[in-house]
Amino acid sequence: MFKCPCGCGDRVELNILQDCWPCWRYSEQETGLMSIYPSVWLIHDCGAHFSVHGSSIKWHWGVNRHSSGFQHCQESD
Ligand SMILES: [Zn+2]
Repeated sequence: MFKCPCGCGDRVELNILQDCWPCWRYSEQETGLMSIYPSVWLIHDCGAHFSVHGSSIKWHWGVNRHSSGFQHCQESD
């Protein structure tokens, strides 16, 4: 669980159990930085859509706006 990086203050909770859907892969590095794959989209909350790779956050505003649900998207990067 971590805070939404957009600054809204919401807490983000992701399922990392591989037998449930949707689920994310989460890895934490020695430096304390984390990476999350695939991207996270908080459609029911602030709408933030991002992926996390260590200290960098990649935003995906405007991607897959037509889909619905709290979900991950199938992105190749
Ligand atoms: Zn947010």
